[in-house]
Amino acid sequence: MSQPAAPVNNSLAYLNGDWQPLTETVVPVNTHALQYGTGCFEGIRGYWDGKRINLLFLAEHLDRLHRNAKLLLMQAPTPAQMSAIACEIVARNQPTANIYLRPMVFKKGTTMGPVLVNVADGFMTYMQFLGDYLDTSKGLNVCVSSWCRLSDNSLPTRTKATGGYLNSALAKSEAVLNGYDEAIFLNDRGQVCEGSAENIFIVREGMLHTPDRTADILEGITRRAMVTLAKDLGIGVIERPIARTELYVSDEVFLVGTGCQVSYVRSVDRRIIGDGSRGPLTTRIQQAYEDAAYGRNPAYSSWLTPA
Ligand code: PMP
Repeated sequence: MSQPAAPVNNSLAYLNGDWQPLTETVVPVNTHALQYGTGCFEGIRGYWDGKRINLLFLAEHLDRLHRNAKLLLMQAPTPAQMSAIACEIVARNQPTANIYLRPMVFKKGTTMGPVLVNVADGFMTYMQFLGDYLDTSKGLNVCVSSWCRLSDNSLPTRTKATGGYLNSALAKSEAVLNGYDEAIFLNDRGQVCEGSAENIFIVREGMLHTPDRTADILEGITRRAMVTLAKDLGIGVIERPIARTELYVSDEVFLVGTGCQVSYVRSVDRRIIGDGSRGPLTTRIQQAYEDAAYGRNPAYSSWLTPA
């Protein structure tokens, strides 16, 4: 039986100073970013609380984008300008369900050659509706990837550079082709790094453990929120190098990110984690995160920007 066609996302999008329906936005085929992967971006969730959209960690995402663009020798609009565009996209499209915003700084010039200087910069933001990115209700079956994470001295993963996502795509594709839901990268030192688009936490001896910021990870904003929530819940967090085989003996493993939110891992390389169900610390932290994101806990209202 044929599947019904997915609805076309044709919300108004911002591209280099203009507002257009997303399907009408155009860049030349020789755009530098398309040829060489010279862009960096953010993913920002907006949660519908029944009355309005609240953008989660808007300022933190735009601050990260601004810093990453600078590292990559790109000129981003100011965080205030990008924030105004993010709010305007919500105002223009009036969504009444959870959304995801994708702001991107990119080399819009058409100069030939892989160089970052003397190529014009562009900026765009588009919106789409987004439910769960990974299924958060059932556990994920993940594998350790045979692909190694890019190293900071090759292509800094902390920059969220568009070109770097080919590394993620190779790992995720291998995982899917082999029947897994997601891939876990090791870095070039053989230590646990992160998922294809998520940071990772393990639970051992009642504490959360996660790779530190020099482990070639993206410095995730959800990861940082986990550290805050854990502290507030009285759960210890240790940031340190994690060995591959620690995954297999962990009591709990979960992935976090703007897209996947908090998703528990059921098995790693076919070894069941705990009893295969969502563990107690994961359950507590996932609940706390969802309460904060949906504006149900006033203690975290500063995380939300009503748009
Ligand atoms: N690692 C990678 C490689 C990612 O793409 C993402 C998603 N942005 C994350 C981690 C999670 O980061 P954040 O919590 O900031 O969304």
